[in-house]
Amino acid sequence: MGELTDRPIKVMEVCGTHTVSIFRQGLRALFPPNVALVSGPGCPVCVTSQGEIDAALSLAGRANTTVATYGAMLRVPGTEPTLAEERSRGADVRVVTSADQALSLAMDDRTRTVVFLAVGFETTAPATASVVLDACREDLDNFMILNLHKSVPPALETLASDPEVKLEAFLLPGHVSVITGLEPYRFLPERYGIACAVAGFEAEEIMAALVEVARQIREKRPRVASLYSRAVRPQGNATARSVMGKVFALDDATWRGLGIITSSGYSLREEFTRFDALERLGLTIKEAPPPAGCMCGEVLKGLIDPPACALFGRSCTPAHPIGPCMVSTEGSCAAYYRFRQRGNVNWRD
Ligand code: SF4
Ligand code: SF4
Repeated sequence: MGELTDRPIKVMEVCGTHTVSIFRQGLRALFPPNVALVSGPGCPVCVTSQGEIDAALSLAGRANTTVATYGAMLRVPGTEPTLAEERSRGADVRVVTSADQALSLAMDDRTRTVVFLAVGFETTAPATASVVLDACREDLDNFMILNLHKSVPPALETLASDPEVKLEAFLLPGHVSVITGLEPYRFLPERYGIACAVAGFEAEEIMAALVEVARQIREKRPRVASLYSRAVRPQGNATARSVMGKVFALDDATWRGLGIITSSGYSLREEFTRFDALERLGLTIKEAPPPAGCMCGEVLKGLIDPPACALFGRSCTPAHPIGPCMVSTEGSCAAYYRFRQRGNVNWRD
């Protein structure tokens, strides 16, 4: 890779699992000095906006209501306390590992309203869509979703077009691309001249993808390459996309750090509004400022590495997180913190 890079290049990895794999396998030590790898908006929990977290918190403690959530959302601070704190005060907040489990909670006790916090990118949105179809088929009246699903490609366009971010390449996410295929990324090389490679999660796969983007940059021939062909087909997973298309339509969404991005959220189609917690329970998402001093927005845009946040490792630690990037195990701040403890990080200046 060193021989391929004749000038400094900035590459963004767009997947929380890549961030963690790179640290775990000590890959940063192998990068030539002119390759800067920054983390982007790759963790669905991290990009959930403050207003969306607050809406989720407003559900906890409602009469006769169970909030079903993936574990990572439990400790994300909102303007009010966290879901974990609400639970310790008696709110019925249950951790689930799938949308299916949330649906089962609703089917097992029809006297309670179950609201599933539906977060995630194209990786988890098909499962939520399929559960909404199941709930419809069962004519289930006590199941809803707080729909916070987001689409990755529009967020990449926001970053690609931001002159402050200045990226040469994306290491594209593996699991998201299994669903989307390669087509939705084509605009990146064509319109913005950005080199792209989809990577798996093993060390050799990540390094091969970095060599690929370095070569594309050197040859001035940006394109969308897939180095994860054992899992990603160029056309993606048509079945999963068709289920999503039945249930969701693209709508504007607010991302932490990136603001409102056109057509970047999966909202429920009109025929499914009875499963929409916002509609049914009359909730609104009111945007609120992030916690004082928290620079998650800058981290998610790759403008700073986590240690550049003044709160990093001081008032903000995985035990007492201030922003979501320190909560989720796939968040950049949590990854930097964890692997710094193990001496596994080469700091950039
Ligand atoms: S959902 Fe999958 S592809 Fe997306 S950030 Fe998480 S691990 Fe990466
Ligand atoms: S260290 Fe904490 S406060 Fe600072 S950016 Fe990361 S999560 Fe936000």
